[in-house]
Amino acid sequence: MANEFDYIRENLRVIQDKVGQAQEKSGNNVRIMAVTKTVPPEAVNYAVRLGIDLLGENRVQEFLSKQESYDKSAQVHIIGHLQTNKVKYIINSVSMIQSVDSLRLGQEINRLAEKNGKIMDILCEVNIGGEDSKSGVSPENLKDLVTELSQLSYIKVKGIMTIPPPSDSDIFLGRTQELFNSLKDSDISGADMDILSMGMSNDYEKAILHGSNLVRIGTALFGARNYRNI
Ligand SMILES: *Cc1c(COP(=O)(O)O)cnc(C)c1O
Repeated sequence: MANEFDYIRENLRVIQDKVGQAQEKSGNNVRIMAVTKTVPPEAVNYAVRLGIDLLGENRVQEFLSKQESYDKSAQVHIIGHLQTNKVKYIINSVSMIQSVDSLRLGQEINRLAEKNGKIMDILCEVNIGGEDSKSGVSPENLKDLVTELSQLSYIKVKGIMTIPPPSDSDIFLGRTQELFNSLKDSDISGADMDILSMGMSNDYEKAILHGSNLVRIGTALFGARNYRNI
């Protein structure tokens, strides 16, 4: 029977195909995240029933308003800029915070994780293109930040996340891969450099070829965003 969300099924098939091919070339084991901003919960749940097991949330407010309606079988990661005063709202409902870009934010996550009897996995977000419009730590300060965050007992640094500038993306994908590999090689005490979260709808195949093992996909899966939905 035709369904209003059939396009999601078709889109996912295409994405899985391309990820599979890129994965074979790169040798990475790649996880696909569905990025849900502006997407109604019914569409998100449809994707989860098709096998998506990871959701990416940008805005705390939007997440809180949709969370109750979500199928609980998928994990949720925060991928958008997070203010320290909002950590308390999400500390118990997400399995990772990918957008940590300051020691202050890391300390607040650490404090609330301890209070809630857990260890929170995090990624450090790096602003690889040095763009004013984007959050993230500068490439120059990344290693120091990872080192400092890794000393906190109730968070675990699992890798890095980036949004490369859309132009010249190959250069920035390559630079991020180099940074990731050099962090791995430094073997920073307390950190597990396992995850390189890089690649969105327009560059996920290239990102995988540059070592990404977590791609964050919104429009290629759900179609163009309608900001009137939020
Ligand atoms: C919106 C968003 C994505 C997904 O972008 P698309 O181009 O729609 O795939 C990925 N990562 C972050 C951090 C985002 O905000």
